[in-house]
Amino acid sequence: MIIKPFWARLAMAVLVPMALVTLTVIPIFISHLEERTDATHRSAEAMLNSEYDLLLSGMNESFNQVLSTAEYPLLRRFLSRQAVSQEPRWDRASQHDWEQLDTLFSTLLTHFGRYTRMAVVDTAGREWVATSELPLQPRPPVVAYDTTDTFHKAMTLHSRDLYVSPPRLGASGEQASPVTTVIDIATPIVDERGERLGVLMFTLDWSRLTASLPHARGNQGQALLVDAQGQWLLPGGDADDMRFGQLLSTRWPAAWAAMVTRNQGSMTLSDHLLAFRSHDLRTQHYRSEAGMIISDSGTQPWHLGILMPRPSFWGVLLENPVQLLAIVLVYLLSMAFGVFWVFSHYRLRELRQQALMFSREARQYAGEVQDLYEHAPCGYHSLDSEGRVIRINRTELEWLGYRADEVIGKRHYRDFVTPESREAFDAAFQKVLGEGQEGGTECELLCRDGTRLPVAIQGKAHVTEEGFQYSRTMVFDLSERKAMEARLEQQALTDPLTGLGNRRALEDQAAMEIARAERSGAPLSLVAIDLDHFKDINDTYGHDVGDWVLQAFAELTQEVLRDGDVLCRIGGEEFTVLLPNTSKDQALQVAERLRRAIAATPAKIGQVTKEDTVLAYTASLGVTMVSAGETTLKPAIKRADQKLYAAKKAGRNRVHWEEV
Ligand code: GH3
Ligand code: MG
Ligand code: MG
Repeated sequence: MIIKPFWARLAMAVLVPMALVTLTVIPIFISHLEERTDATHRSAEAMLNSEYDLLLSGMNESFNQVLSTAEYPLLRRFLSRQAVSQEPRWDRASQHDWEQLDTLFSTLLTHFGRYTRMAVVDTAGREWVATSELPLQPRPPVVAYDTTDTFHKAMTLHSRDLYVSPPRLGASGEQASPVTTVIDIATPIVDERGERLGVLMFTLDWSRLTASLPHARGNQGQALLVDAQGQWLLPGGDADDMRFGQLLSTRWPAAWAAMVTRNQGSMTLSDHLLAFRSHDLRTQHYRSEAGMIISDSGTQPWHLGILMPRPSFWGVLLENPVQLLAIVLVYLLSMAFGVFWVFSHYRLRELRQQALMFSREARQYAGEVQDLYEHAPCGYHSLDSEGRVIRINRTELEWLGYRADEVIGKRHYRDFVTPESREAFDAAFQKVLGEGQEGGTECELLCRDGTRLPVAIQGKAHVTEEGFQYSRTMVFDLSERKAMEARLEQQALTDPLTGLGNRRALEDQAAMEIARAERSGAPLSLVAIDLDHFKDINDTYGHDVGDWVLQAFAELTQEVLRDGDVLCRIGGEEFTVLLPNTSKDQALQVAERLRRAIAATPAKIGQVTKEDTVLAYTASLGVTMVSAGETTLKPAIKRADQKLYAAKKAGRNRVHWEEV
């Protein structure tokens, strides 16, 4: 499911930039191609014009040479003399003519290599002179021209008229290539009276005249020259499959069709550009002194064309490797961009999903942390630098009995601290604000319902570069610990069997009572009590019964004594009563009352039958006063003990007074 859109997106991301690049590059190339095509057209036309001028000037030059040669008096004289006889004349004058003719034709041939043959023919068609036989030897005429078209056409012309034959295959006059394309140019030789004396005939090596035409120049262009029938007039070249006389219509029918319908123009073939113009020799007088030029009607006009390879898209593209490389690079870059875009898009989506997941988890964690914060077993709060509450958890709010909106931003935390512990709190908070950045103390909080909550506070400063921001404080409820401590303290001072204070408790109480008596001057008495024959009770009834007796004693004695009297068990069955604000007589009365009560109240020692079993017991008591100036109870206890022993000695179950 995920792969499909990924590949589709990737394909799009590659194809779209490529299409955009193509849309940008193609019009540039097309206009470039059009420019190139225009330039090729222009260069084809320029080449056509220059080749056209070259061909015409060559032809005209030849025409003028034929005409000027025909007007040589030497030729007229020679023909006038020879015409009268069938044989060459060998007299002295004739000899001189032969020599001059030889010089004339040798000069022409040497200077104008384009002629393969020059012939002088008399009116009967007999050839008297032919340059193929240079140096000229006087001889009788050997070749008869009276059957040739050229001779007959020329014989019908007037002075300064020319006959131009169609190109034909003929002797080149050279040993190496005996056959070439030639054109005959002929004009009549006329005497002063206008009588025709014969015909001067120049055979032009057509291939030499047209050698300059770029008929085999490959990519640079190719010249086409055809006659009115479309026959190829140029000698074939290496790169040109057209041969003399072949029809252009078979090779380039479109070109031929255009050339016969228009005199001049240009056109686009499938893979070539063609510029062409027509030329009719018969109407051409440019720099020619000819009167009239006659030619065979079937051959004129000639059509000259320049064919140039048409610039192609791929040709233009491939001709410049740097440009090609640049385009390939642009394509590759656009594709790379597309691929990068797709991958970064997917990576981004992945990251976004991850971020979403993280933020969900973070929210969950934050919720849990918030929950922990709010419902932690200890209090949490944060105070600003002035001690104002800016955050407080639910636990602590519940302890204090306030709502968050009543406290946050409205109350200073020290308001919740009892006046007694406020000093300690202030000192600790100053430490948090100070360099140490933390402080703690134990103090008491004053709750809404008036109860006091002992707590331990431990605060730390949250400090940034800008200094103190707020405090983070943990508050621990100490009430349980305090209760435990109190219990332990109580236990340490209490006798577990009877619930009375022990020796330590007595000492603590005594210190207070002595100090109070000291202050007030009130008398302070002390009674030492020891149960009689207690060992026997243990031995007779067991240790448990002994314990019950001790408990019964404690209960009874507490009933008899006033509030404020301090009864403590200081030994096994030895007790002490501290009687604040009690004189000697009063102390004796209390002791006696106690003795009697003990003796009269047997201790309950369990249920042996239906009724409680009781055990009578007695106690001996020694009484004394705590003397002024005594800081501890020790001497008084000692004195009371002595009197107690005295009572024992005296028979037990009695009270003895120790006079101080
Ligand atoms: P008297 O004082 O009359 O001279 O005789 P007595 O038997 O009381 O003598 P003594 O003081 O020597 O004996 C005290 C006895 O108290 C010894 C001991 O076994 C017993 N006793 C001490 N503490 C406890 C106690 O917590 N429970 C019980 N059951 N007996 C105790
Ligand atoms: Mg004793
Ligand atoms: Mg005893």
